Amino acid sequence: MRGAYLPGGSKVELRTVPDPSPGRGQVVLAMRASTICGSDLRAIYREHLGEGPEAYRGVIGGHEPCGQVVEVGPDVRRLRAGDRVVVYHISGCGQCDQCRRGYQISCRSPARAAYGWQRDGGHADLLLAEERDLLLLPDSLTFLDGACVACGFATAYEALCRTGVSGRDRVLVTGLGPVGLAAGVLAKAMGASLVVGTDPNQARRCLATQVGAVDEQLAGGYEELKDMLGDGAEVAVDCSGNPSAQLSAFRHTRRWGRTALVGEGGRLTIDVSEVLIHRQLTVHGSWVSSTWRMAELLDNLERWCLHPEVVVTDRLALADAQAAYAVADSSTGGKVGIVWP
Ligand SMILES: [Zn+2]
Ligand SMILES: [Zn+2]
Repeated sequence: MRGAYLPGGSKVELRTVPDPSPGRGQVVLAMRASTICGSDLRAIYREHLGEGPEAYRGVIGGHEPCGQVVEVGPDVRRLRAGDRVVVYHISGCGQCDQCRRGYQISCRSPARAAYGWQRDGGHADLLLAEERDLLLLPDSLTFLDGACVACGFATAYEALCRTGVSGRDRVLVTGLGPVGLAAGVLAKAMGASLVVGTDPNQARRCLATQVGAVDEQLAGGYEELKDMLGDGAEVAVDCSGNPSAQLSAFRHTRRWGRTALVGEGGRLTIDVSEVLIHRQLTVHGSWVSSTWRMAELLDNLERWCLHPEVVVTDRLALADAQAAYAVADSSTGGKVGIVWP
C-alpha cells in the first residue's frame, strides 16, 4: 500500500510499504477520507516541533481518518467487514482514569499512541486500528463528514458542550480556521441566537459566512466587537491559538459568561482582575474530545441533518498529498481532505 510520511521541511513523502494485518482486537480499514489538521502543520509538516503527546515518531501521517472495515483480527466482537467507521485518533492504555472517562487524549501511559503521531495514521490506503478506538459512522454521513468529526468537529463540540451553549446564548468565535468554522456551525445547531466570528483574514471570514458558520463576521478590533456585542457574548470560544484573539475572546465575553480556549499555543499576558475576576468569567481549557462525546456528536449530526464536510474546500487524492499539505498550509481556505474514490 501507499503511505504519506512527513519528514519535516514542508515535505511529504509517499512511500510503498507492506499492507498491515490485524492482531488481536484490531481491524484493518480501507481509508476513504483523511483530513489535514492545523496541528499536523504546526507540529509536524513544517518542522518536528512536538513533544510528549505531540512528538512525531516518523509514522504515516494523518490523525483524522475515516474508512471502511476490510479485515478483522481475533477477538474483534463488535465490528465486521463493511462497517463504516470514524477513528477516535488516540489509542490510550484503556485502563487509567482518563481512558475510563473516554478521554484517551489525556492518557499519560507510555502505551498511549495517537494515530498519525506515534502510530501509523490515515494518509494511507489501509490503516491498522484498535477496535475500541472506532465509532460507527451513521448512514446519512459521508466518509468526509466522518473525517471532519475525527478531530476538528469533535473538538469544537466538546468546547461548546463544556460552556453549555443553548438558545439563551450569543456565541463569539475567534479564529475562523477549520475548527472555528466547526464551532460556528455547531453553535448554531445547538441553538445559539447569534454567532459572531472574527479573523484577520478576509477570505476566511467570507468562507465562514458562505458555509453558514457565522451570522456576522468581523476582523476583530475591540471597538467593532464592542459595537456589535455590547458587554460581550454569553459564550466565547477561541479557535485561533493567537494571544491577541485569545485576549479578545475574554474581553468580549459578557459578565458571568463562559470562555473556552481550544486553539493550541500562544502565551497570554492578561490583567487577571480586570478581565477575569471582576467580570466573573468561567474559563474552560478544552483539549480535543472523548469517545462518548464524539459518538454523541455523530448521532446529533444525523438528527440535525448537518454535514461537517461543508467546511472542506479542497479534496485531493493520496498521490497528491504534497499538494494537499501545501494548500492546507496556505491558510486561506477551509479544511483540506485526502479522499479515495
Ligand atoms: Zn487534529
Ligand atoms: Zn490510559
